[in-house]
Amino acid sequence: MSETELLTRSRPIVRKGRLNGAQRNRLRRLLNMMYTTNELANEIGVSPRMVRRVYVPLGCPHTRNQQNHIMINGVDFRDWYQRMYKKRSPAEDEAFCLICGDTVKMVDPSPKELDGLSYVVAKCSNCGSNIARFIDMVRKKI
Ligand SMILES: [Zn+2]
Repeated sequence: MSETELLTRSRPIVRKGRLNGAQRNRLRRLLNMMYTTNELANEIGVSPRMVRRVYVPLGCPHTRNQQNHIMINGVDFRDWYQRMYKKRSPAEDEAFCLICGDTVKMVDPSPKELDGLSYVVAKCSNCGSNIARFIDMVRKKI
């Protein structure tokens, strides 16, 4: 994999299914009880289709009742959503490893530049594969 490919693929931000502010607020209302996909969708203010076609395939915890309908615990859903969609902001010495699927420590980081873009290539501390990250722009504090 080329370094640029590595860079563009190393941004695991899930956009599909991301809730807006009002919907995120409604997550707080979810109770520690089982909801059908329709009920859950209704509580959050999304379409039932989004729950069935996006959240469940993405790994949202669920069970099935005797009628084989998907049932989702409200609290489990909220925890899952927050884990799944949290902004990943790796520390300065970390990057996202595509193999491990997680943020890992960088080993032997070496700074590079391409078309005025600064980035670091390193090895994953966990599996040893190549990882890369952009160097964040430093914002001047006024
Ligand atoms: Zn790794």
